[in-house]
Amino acid sequence: MKSHPPEPGSDPAAQDTESGGADNAGPPPPPLRALAGPVRGRLALAVGLQAVAALAGVVPFIAVSRIAERLTAGGQADGDDLWPLVALACASGFVALVCGTAAGALAHLADNDLQLSLRRRLARHIGRLPLGRLTDRGTSEVKQAVQDDVSALHTLFAHTLLDVVSVLTAPVLIVLYLLTVDWRMALASLVPLLLGVFLFSRAMAGAAAQMAEFGAAVGRISAAAVEFASGIAVFKSFGRGRKAHERFVRATEGFADFFSGWVRSTLVTSTAAILVVAPAVVLLLLTVLGTVFITQDRMAAAELVPFLLLGPAVAAPMGVVGPRIQQIRAAQSAAVRITELLDAPTLPEPTTPTLPDGHHVSLRGVSFSYDGHTEVLGDVDLDLEPGTVTALVGPSGSGKSTLASLLPRFHDVTAGTVTLGGAELRDIPATELYRRVGFVLQDVRLLRASVADNIRLGRPDATAEEVERCARAARIHDRIMELPDGYATELGTGVTLSGGEAQRLSIARALLADAPILVLDEATAYADPHSEALIQDALSALAAGRTLLVIAHRLSTIRSADRIVVLEDGRVTEQGRHDDLLAADGRYAALWEAQRSAGPDETDGAPRQRSTPARADRAADDIREGSAR
Ligand code: ADP
Repeated sequence: MKSHPPEPGSDPAAQDTESGGADNAGPPPPPLRALAGPVRGRLALAVGLQAVAALAGVVPFIAVSRIAERLTAGGQADGDDLWPLVALACASGFVALVCGTAAGALAHLADNDLQLSLRRRLARHIGRLPLGRLTDRGTSEVKQAVQDDVSALHTLFAHTLLDVVSVLTAPVLIVLYLLTVDWRMALASLVPLLLGVFLFSRAMAGAAAQMAEFGAAVGRISAAAVEFASGIAVFKSFGRGRKAHERFVRATEGFADFFSGWVRSTLVTSTAAILVVAPAVVLLLLTVLGTVFITQDRMAAAELVPFLLLGPAVAAPMGVVGPRIQQIRAAQSAAVRITELLDAPTLPEPTTPTLPDGHHVSLRGVSFSYDGHTEVLGDVDLDLEPGTVTALVGPSGSGKSTLASLLPRFHDVTAGTVTLGGAELRDIPATELYRRVGFVLQDVRLLRASVADNIRLGRPDATAEEVERCARAARIHDRIMELPDGYATELGTGVTLSGGEAQRLSIARALLADAPILVLDEATAYADPHSEALIQDALSALAAGRTLLVIAHRLSTIRSADRIVVLEDGRVTEQGRHDDLLAADGRYAALWEAQRSAGPDETDGAPRQRSTPARADRAADDIREGSAR
């Protein structure tokens, strides 16, 4: 029985749902019912078969108790009396076996189909979500829904559901039969069950609040553990190793105090609940009561046998009710998360698909808000002439990444328009848009596939020569040749690339995809100057002949951009060429001065690891020259 607090480490998300308590085991809430919809017929059939199996499973015990009754009843037991009972036991045992197996198979097959169709629906839907949603929430939400949550539904539909049917039906038949033997003893066999339910409910009282606190305490430990792991180097390097784990220790101590307090407060009731339904205790109770009845001639001795055989099974379901409630709650939470993801609005498909005419990008009166209230971009007008480099600069949080993300349509604008070749982005079919707009982000995602396939992502039909040409231009070819299988090396299976190498691979990918417009989030931190130099070379290859929108973290690298756009609080406060902006002595000049005095590593407030300013300036010139070619 699980009337005590959950095991530390169990999934709090699965527990802190809805109201808590045994009442949660009721009919499934709408999300769960809705998701099960397509297989509901088969699940209902499985439930029916399982009920038959559970009832048939009781019959052999009834038959055996009748045989035992007759054998112990004194008089001569007649084979003609006994063999039909043996046959009945065998037949019903066989029926139980067949129906139970069929129910299990049916539930598993239904669940298998459900998992397949859910995963397909999720994959289709995720593919149509705005890219911004996936980059905002990360891939963990997707992994959770597609893998963990669908598995939680499997546990419910393929296992828990049938278990619950068994524990609810078998005791009913047992009690009905026992009532026919001796109604007083039958009622007595119900006492442990009722007492168990009462004590269990007492132990679970207030569980919802405790579960919430349990989840919060586990969350505090996780946060402190992450902080501990990521900050330990800094603390140690300043000789404050102990300081690093203080918060973690406090969080674990807090959890231990809370948990032991919870255990203490429920210990007596939960132990009592476990005790009263334990088979040995029930057996003892029925034996003592039966002996009293027999010695007082209120009951025949042989009539005690069915109670000793079947009595403990009446209260037994209480022993499994706790874990089953936990599984039902986990499935409810999973269904809510899956439904939320399936309900997340997709990018609207164009009503009147339009193809861009040329590659001129124009933003007019663009405003954007993530939450519908706080404006992150306001009234932005911007033109990206084909073949030019435009750099976005400004303090951290000024909206550079948000503005850049509008071009590959990670989000749709809240107000205003973004057009490409005269067509509104919303009207350009996604495949056409991504043929024209590429992006290289700092956070490079490599697929679990061969190096060549990773590069080929944007053009799966590219030849090996084309792949190699782009890899050479992106300065990653030599590194690829050092890998065990060269271009055929599988990434993500033991072979990992450094951050700088992964970025060069993503540049090779963008080169091969050959989108005429490119959004580039300039990498902020390189592993070493050599890698940085290679990346800058790769970027200059990428800039050649393309329209580039660069999120610039280092002003030195974009000195020769065609247009530098200064963003502050989501508004364009200045734009122009480097020299003109310096001469204007405005915000850009101040940023430039601040960077120079803070050192070449600092532009938007974010610290950089290393820099090679001379090299970066040269690369900026390369970009300039490349784009002019
Ligand atoms: P920058 O790139 O200049 O550092 P961002 O575009 O990342 O600026 O952020 C601009 C503002 O939008 C910041 O206030 C930031 O907190 C907010 N913001 C960025 N991404 C999100 C998001 N996914 N959801 C909500 N707010 C966001």
